[in-house]
Amino acid sequence: MKNIRNFVIVAHVDHGKSTLADRFLELTGTVEKRKMHEQYLDTMELERERGITIKLQPVRMRYRASNGSGPEYILNLIDTPGHVDFSYEVSRSLAAVEGAILLVDASKGVQAQTLANLHLAQQQGLKIIPVLNKIDLPNARTKQVKEELAYLLAIKPEDVLEVSAKNGTNVEKVLERIITEVEPPKEVQLLNILKALIFDSTFDAYKGVIAYIRVFEGSIKKGDKIMAFATKAKADVLEAGYFSPNLIASDDGMSSGEIGYIATGLKDPGQIRVGDTITNLKPNEGFKPLPGYKEPRPMVFASFFPEKNEDYDILKDALGKLKLTDASLVYEPESSDGLGRGFRLGFLGMLHVEIISERLKREFGLSLIISSPSVEYAVKMQNGEELKIRSASMLPNFSGIVAIAEPIVDLEVLTPTVYVGSIMELMSAVRNVYNGTDYLGKETALLKYEMPLAEVITDFYDKLKSVSSGYASMSYESKGMQEGDLVRLDILIAKDMVEPFSRIVPKEKAYQEGRAMVTKLKEVVPSQMFEVSIQAAIGGKVIAAESIRAKRKDVTQHMYGGDITRRMKLWKKQKRGKARMKETGRVNLGQDVFLKMLKR
Ligand code: GDP
Ligand code: MG
Repeated sequence: MKNIRNFVIVAHVDHGKSTLADRFLELTGTVEKRKMHEQYLDTMELERERGITIKLQPVRMRYRASNGSGPEYILNLIDTPGHVDFSYEVSRSLAAVEGAILLVDASKGVQAQTLANLHLAQQQGLKIIPVLNKIDLPNARTKQVKEELAYLLAIKPEDVLEVSAKNGTNVEKVLERIITEVEPPKEVQLLNILKALIFDSTFDAYKGVIAYIRVFEGSIKKGDKIMAFATKAKADVLEAGYFSPNLIASDDGMSSGEIGYIATGLKDPGQIRVGDTITNLKPNEGFKPLPGYKEPRPMVFASFFPEKNEDYDILKDALGKLKLTDASLVYEPESSDGLGRGFRLGFLGMLHVEIISERLKREFGLSLIISSPSVEYAVKMQNGEELKIRSASMLPNFSGIVAIAEPIVDLEVLTPTVYVGSIMELMSAVRNVYNGTDYLGKETALLKYEMPLAEVITDFYDKLKSVSSGYASMSYESKGMQEGDLVRLDILIAKDMVEPFSRIVPKEKAYQEGRAMVTKLKEVVPSQMFEVSIQAAIGGKVIAAESIRAKRKDVTQHMYGGDITRRMKLWKKQKRGKARMKETGRVNLGQDVFLKMLKR
């Protein structure tokens, strides 16, 4: 029998999960010293560039306690992201393990995702090992934060381990606690039964879809014939193995309790779904699949159109592959008169929008037109119809609209009490209803609000961080729909509406928003040979305007004007085409402009 322990590290972003994982990798000799580098498990280019974890990452380690003289253990660790937009990665990881290290930064204390992840881990019935990190920092509040954690978990402060993931202090003790306190996985070997949970997946050009699995019953190895229960996709296991953290094939395969991967050879990404159960070709009668996951609900939507029409199929293929490595991404085809065929994508938050946009560009070489992200609105029409609108450009003519409702969330802001004043001030600038304050010990306050989701997905989070010197954090849960006084704000560049920039905004903020958008566009739209006007308008009425001066005085300016009029005539006869959208008045809006507008 193998001595196995399966566990995750969960924490608020930046509390040191990936750094602690580095120390584990060193201590167990999983990664050679000369190959070691910081945040080793953050393998994506984007993760390294931004210094954040986006994807869950499993790794198998071998460990002998008592300086190598004890019995050998197999430790399967899953490192997770800490940002709220990637919480689906966390919940999927939790379903594959028996224990969780709850890591807390001693200088920052308990933050919003500490609480959110703790609740998730508790719901899964996982053993929680509380660990206080960064005790080496001069501003570590070791004693207070230990008390906070002890209060949260109803344990004694001395049961919280103190470590420095950076210096390696006490890191071995964490592994020892894992071994003694986390339950070994149950071994279930029944004749002809295989149950393995797909908790993640990826695509390999040669090996097809690769499923990351946790085996709960039975075993699986190379050559086995298997089926994905929900999709009924059948496959031969081309390869089975474990994470080192790169994929290492192993002829032994995996038996119940283990975490690893299988290569299926399947070429259609849709056939392997995260949350599905891998089983035998002919499961016994009455076979019950594993519970799987609750699908995450997209919060923010944005339309993606390829700049070149012929790239539509590449975009479609890319989305299928991204969906494999990011199960929280949803998409459906969409077409627009002006922009042709594209997709409406659903995301968990704004960082998610940004990351997917970047990945489409980098990993698939796509150049895209991306609309302003929007929440989903419910529009009541005079004729009694109710429409779901996920894009401002789809909002029908105002005269027919009775009411527009928008999603509302329960927002929790966790902050050291010293920042409560500045946070209250920040809140006075956004639409919200204050629902009271709880205290977590003496120094940490939990402020509760009800707030339109649309307010949350702007730059609210950045502002919250800046008014609290980075200490406040937040989480939110949806609370249903509520009617609001909302209008559609359009952007015109060189007098032509650029549909992807249209947004639905509260009436009282329309001016401010319009101004902010034209100001930002003035910065990001490249200057042309002629003067370019940038306008924000509501129902055809301009409410804010800027213009970009011509690149240089140009004797041909008059000719350009003539050129444009001539073109306009031509264009009028044509359907609103993409070329026109993009090169309106010869203003070329490349993907950069759209990406920069996302990062407002
Ligand atoms: P994650 O987001 O939880 O994975 O956090 P990272 O492991 O990426 O660490 C975030 C930052 O904290 C990095 O700059 C690390 O170098 C730093 N860090 C992590 N652990 C420690 C520690 O024990 N002491 C100090 N001083 N810094 C640490
Ligand atoms: Mg990390």
